Amino acid sequence: MHFLPEDVFDLCLDRAKKFMGPEKYNSWLANASFRSYDNGVFTIGLDSEIRSNFVTQHYKENLEELLRKITEKSDISVVFTHVPETLSLGKIQNSSRHEMFSNFLKPGYVFDRFIQGPNNRMAFATAQAVAYEMGHSSTNPLFIYGGVGLGKTHLIQAIAHHIKENQQDKKFSYISSEEFLTSYVRALDPNKNRTRAMDIFKDRFRNSHYLIMDDVQFLAGKEGTQDVFFHLFNDLYLRGRQIILTSDRPPHEIEPLEERLISRFQSGMVVDIKPPILETRLAILNQKLKDENIQLDKDIVLYLAETVKSNVRQLEGAVNLLAANIRIQNIELSLENVRSIVTEYLGASSRRLNPSSITSTVGEFFGVNPNSLKGKQRKREILVPRQVSMFLMRELTSLSLEEIGSFFGRDHSTVLNAIKRINSKMSEDSFFKRKILDIREGLLG
Ligand code: ADP
Ligand code: MG
Repeated sequence: MHFLPEDVFDLCLDRAKKFMGPEKYNSWLANASFRSYDNGVFTIGLDSEIRSNFVTQHYKENLEELLRKITEKSDISVVFTHVPETLSLGKIQNSSRHEMFSNFLKPGYVFDRFIQGPNNRMAFATAQAVAYEMGHSSTNPLFIYGGVGLGKTHLIQAIAHHIKENQQDKKFSYISSEEFLTSYVRALDPNKNRTRAMDIFKDRFRNSHYLIMDDVQFLAGKEGTQDVFFHLFNDLYLRGRQIILTSDRPPHEIEPLEERLISRFQSGMVVDIKPPILETRLAILNQKLKDENIQLDKDIVLYLAETVKSNVRQLEGAVNLLAANIRIQNIELSLENVRSIVTEYLGASSRRLNPSSITSTVGEFFGVNPNSLKGKQRKREILVPRQVSMFLMRELTSLSLEEIGSFFGRDHSTVLNAIKRINSKMSEDSFFKRKILDIREGLLG
């Protein structure tokens, strides 16, 4: 989902006010507050049972229709809930804000289910320290980086879960940098009351004790958003609030990112997560098999841990696939079965995501010969897809700038430059951006 439900609900109230007229609106909906969003269902808080019953009877359908229009989704519904009147309005609003972000937390992403190993021990320990006590200058901000599928999101959601359970007086905002961007852009919408929209946007984060932002690398090249984020960062930091960030690369490799943000990101604790070693993979595998209620022979488990090693998500993917096979065929899997399933599974993902497959897919999309992308021509028709290929290799593989450069017979600064160019072209030209996202999707299958 690319919008924040809270924003959608806001917009919906704005429109409801128009069709209901101020008098009716003030009687029935003025105190409505966003509670949660889950799978198409908006839960809306009202302050009494009478209101909740009346609104359900008279306005539920209208609100649902408005929400469907705004989200452009057909499967949207609304439920109302009322909270005890003894709670003050301020508290209601606070708690609804608190819930709103926790709504996006995955239940299983808790500390107890995070397997420690030498690859992630430091990140785990720091995340726990921060979850217990916020705002220490040595760990503020906490910046966790590492490749895809290594547990960054799991770890920062575990912090959020911990706050929710153990520090109910603290508020946190959990958001991905992409959602932050979308929600900022929405606040700039000229059709909205801009000052109010921007105030709501800023307040939401300013009031947090913890700002937890996933995948900050997506701020690269988004100058306006970087600027807003920089001010938010300073504001929170100066008031001793804790900031927690993740990225797929260290701060100085996020390009292009304003120098002042890079230095802010480096000013607290920067820790990495590496791919897990065999013992850690085994432990994670055993936890996952237990969850799925699957029993496999020891040699099969060892085979899996030895073979599926690039990241944890891949390991989980392999187990899910085996689980599906077991359910469908209702048989016990032999080592031979497992071997062929896993070989096929790994083959499919590595076929898609290597330099040659990326250049051939990009070539196809742009209608040029993939081999020419590796050549010397500087014609625009070739240059752009070449830069796109470099950009996507950086995004989708774990190759370094140097490695990507050498595939094209060029140096790392050429690759860096290509990435910058594509980033800025994407922010200027939405048609181009769509095209890149399509190619990316095609590659990810
Ligand atoms: P990232 O955000 O780094 O791309 P995720 O946090 O989404 O990775 O992790 C991918 C999957 O692997 C998740 O389902 C997560 O629960 C699991 N995972 C990653 N690391 C661990 C770990 N150390 N212990 C248990 N599960 C893990
Ligand atoms: Mg993640």
